[in-house]
Amino acid sequence: MLLPEALRQGAVDLSERESRWNYALVGSALGVWDHNHRLGTRFYSDTWKTMRGMAPEEDADGDYEAWISLIHPDDRAFVIKAVDGQNAGDPAYQIFEYRERHRDGRWIWIECRGAVVEWDADGTPTRVVGTDTDITARKEAEERLAHMSRRLDLALDISDIGVFEADIAGGTVEWDDRLLAIYGISITERTTVNETWMSLIHPDDSQRVSDTIAAAVETSSDFHHEFRIVRHDGAERVIRAKGAFFTDGDGCQRLIGANWDVTEEVRLNAELQRAKDLAEARNQELEAAKESIEHLALHDYLTGLPNRRYLDRMLEERAQVCRTGELTLAVLHIDLDRFKQINDTLGHRAGDAMLKHAATVLRQSVRASDFVARIGGDEFVVLCTINVTPKKISNLAERIIAELCRPIRYENHDCRFGASIGIATGSGPSLDAKQLLLNADIALYRAKSAGRNRHEFFSTDARRRIIASKRLADDILIGLERGEFVPVYQPQFHARTLDIAGVETLARWQHREHGLLTPDRFLSTAEDINVVAAIDALILEQALADRKQWEKDGITIPKIAVNVSSRRLDDPNLGKKLRALKIQPGTVSFELLESISLDDCDDAVIANLRQLRRLGIDIEIDDFGTGHASIVSLLKLSPKTLKIDRELIRMLPQSSDQRKLVRSIIEIGRSLNILVTAEGVETMDHVRILGDLGCDMLQGYALARPMPGEQIPSFIRAASWRHADDGTQRVHRKRRAPIDPQLSNKSL
Ligand code: C2E
Ligand code: CA
Ligand code: CA
Repeated sequence: MLLPEALRQGAVDLSERESRWNYALVGSALGVWDHNHRLGTRFYSDTWKTMRGMAPEEDADGDYEAWISLIHPDDRAFVIKAVDGQNAGDPAYQIFEYRERHRDGRWIWIECRGAVVEWDADGTPTRVVGTDTDITARKEAEERLAHMSRRLDLALDISDIGVFEADIAGGTVEWDDRLLAIYGISITERTTVNETWMSLIHPDDSQRVSDTIAAAVETSSDFHHEFRIVRHDGAERVIRAKGAFFTDGDGCQRLIGANWDVTEEVRLNAELQRAKDLAEARNQELEAAKESIEHLALHDYLTGLPNRRYLDRMLEERAQVCRTGELTLAVLHIDLDRFKQINDTLGHRAGDAMLKHAATVLRQSVRASDFVARIGGDEFVVLCTINVTPKKISNLAERIIAELCRPIRYENHDCRFGASIGIATGSGPSLDAKQLLLNADIALYRAKSAGRNRHEFFSTDARRRIIASKRLADDILIGLERGEFVPVYQPQFHARTLDIAGVETLARWQHREHGLLTPDRFLSTAEDINVVAAIDALILEQALADRKQWEKDGITIPKIAVNVSSRRLDDPNLGKKLRALKIQPGTVSFELLESISLDDCDDAVIANLRQLRRLGIDIEIDDFGTGHASIVSLLKLSPKTLKIDRELIRMLPQSSDQRKLVRSIIEIGRSLNILVTAEGVETMDHVRILGDLGCDMLQGYALARPMPGEQIPSFIRAASWRHADDGTQRVHRKRRAPIDPQLSNKSL
């Protein structure tokens, strides 16, 4: 059948339009539906089916009830109402959204758009056409956004972060309520919020804040700062702010920012910082206190030098170094000589000044790596390591002694002291630090007994001697307790008449094991342990008692001479003690060694000498001619007698020089009104010569040996010395007797 051309052309147009329409629909993902009530047909496009999980070729029968059952129960009532409205042409329901169950069981969101397109003559809608769109993805995105913004809101709410957004070009800014609350301004001020904001910023911070913002705007870079505001209610708060730039959809540059109140945080931080600072300061104090306690524990308060404890520690440390290496450890034990006298006579302040001076000298004399400690009283120890040779150590010791011997001025006094140094050295793996210290001590003891102001190295020999002398010292103390020290008496004679002029008392030790011992066996040790003064006192008392006994026996001894140690003259109580003895004036004389006293008489000695004179006790200068005292200084003592040392007497018969010397001593004595006694008169030659020279008194083995007190009366009564003329040989043979202790004991 041939169709008319126009009709055929129309059919072609129609089918073309339809296929174009179909392509468009497929591309647009719109599911088309067409409900024609007049024809009773329901059409559903392929897309309509596929969005619900149906196959395109599947028949969609358009059963209303079956479709409704697929709607989400929460949406069902609304969808029924909406479909009715749509079918009725109600524009309110032209578009609605709802959830429908997909074939695979999930819910999909559908946007339904529909409109009445045909009506019957009564105006009743007869055909409704529309599209369904799967908007699940959009709905989910919306849900996510809502969720996020809920979260953000909550977060901002909880954290009290205020947010603003500014249009840079437009110069407008929007604040949210929280931001307004932070600044304490009300909503009415929102229009002028920018000026208000600036006015609220603390004057000290405002310049910095506007600079920060200006710089950020200039470079469109994010910023971050902190500043103070002063709110209208007067409260000062600290605000922290962050800002970020972005370009909005319209290409406008915008700034979004957040402010939050960090006043509490800043205050807390400041408090924490203060607490931390305090804690740190306190820690430092504690640390300093700890250090100073440690320092105190290890140092001597007076000189600031390390103390004994520190020395012990250091000694072990240094010894360890020397045990493993090549080095030698030298220990110098230094003891000040004459320190005690200074302390006793000038007082403790003077003593302290001397100790400080000594500490300074020591510190300056050693190398920085050497260690100097004060270990008590006037004793110091120096530790030297590094390749120390005996020569170097010896030099160091001499330097120290020379320095310490220099007089120092203290309150108008020239104070002189000296030092003795004991040295011990050690090295190698078996080095025993403690023993080294003991050895240095032993060497010191030797240095002191060898005459002071000198140094000695430790030697095992010396050690043996020292140990022996320490034993002797203990023994002497026991002897003193038991009253074993007794006097013997050696008579003295007028040279011209050979009458008895007096006796000299000489100490003896009646030892329980060794018999009668002469002073050479005990005196120097007794001096070391400082008991000579006690012995002297004992001897004097016994001598006075013996004299009483002699008087009872009818014997009068014109004068008793006693030997007096320098220590005894230092004793500030000497005068008192002597007064208690009720000595008859002119009957006792004190023999002072020429060497002890004369040059450096201190106040105590001078006072004691004055006391002696007042008590009528004469002074004799013993061992005259051996010391180096000047005659002038001797005169200060106003001695009654000079005793010429036996060394000067011994060679008289052989040496004319010696005779000349003794004669001039005698002449000087005469011109100064001082008597002269000769000691060591061993032969009758001596007796004759001394008589010729004009000597006043004689004392010696030729005339009398020392004897116990009870022998004095019979000796004097017998007067055997007057007949000793031809005894030169005999006496001479016995000259060496005192050197042999056995013999000397027998002869006293
Ligand atoms: P000194 O004071 O010079 O005493 C004289 C010493 O010479 C005595 O020795 C005496 O025994 C000895 N001697 C006497 N005549 C002769 C002689 O003709 N030839 C020789 N070679 N020697 C003679 P001694 O008793 O051993 O005393 C020695 C020193 O001990 C004394 O020397 C004196 O400095 C000291 N000394 C003795 N007794 C005491 C004392 O009680 N106190 C103090 N502090 N020192 C005393
Ligand atoms: Ca004497
Ligand atoms: Ca003498």
